[in-house]
Amino acid sequence: MHEVGLMQEAVGIAGHHAREAGATRIRMIRVRIGESSGVVREALEFAFEAVTEGTMAEGAALDIEVTPTICHCAGCASEFKPANVFRECPSCGSLSTDIVQGMELELTSLEVT
Ligand SMILES: [Zn+2]
Repeated sequence: MHEVGLMQEAVGIAGHHAREAGATRIRMIRVRIGESSGVVREALEFAFEAVTEGTMAEGAALDIEVTPTICHCAGCASEFKPANVFRECPSCGSLSTDIVQGMELELTSLEVT
């Protein structure tokens, strides 16, 4: 499962930052996932429980923010939210291959004690 690896990485980074800050427990981890990242929220939550077990993030809350997909059109230089998987530009009808937002998985903030 893809999400386990992602979560392991996020929790690893969070742990590094928490230790640097002199913290002993991670209370909350906030992540941002793109609508087009292929990451499933429920799977991420499940993976979070699994990978934090026995770590300083055990029992921490996971806050997930989902960002919508935004495409850039090379034809007319507009940015739009695609209505379907073909990502057709509503202004000129070009098919966009350039996703400017919505593919990300980022650790956005952390609460530690
Ligand atoms: Zn266009």
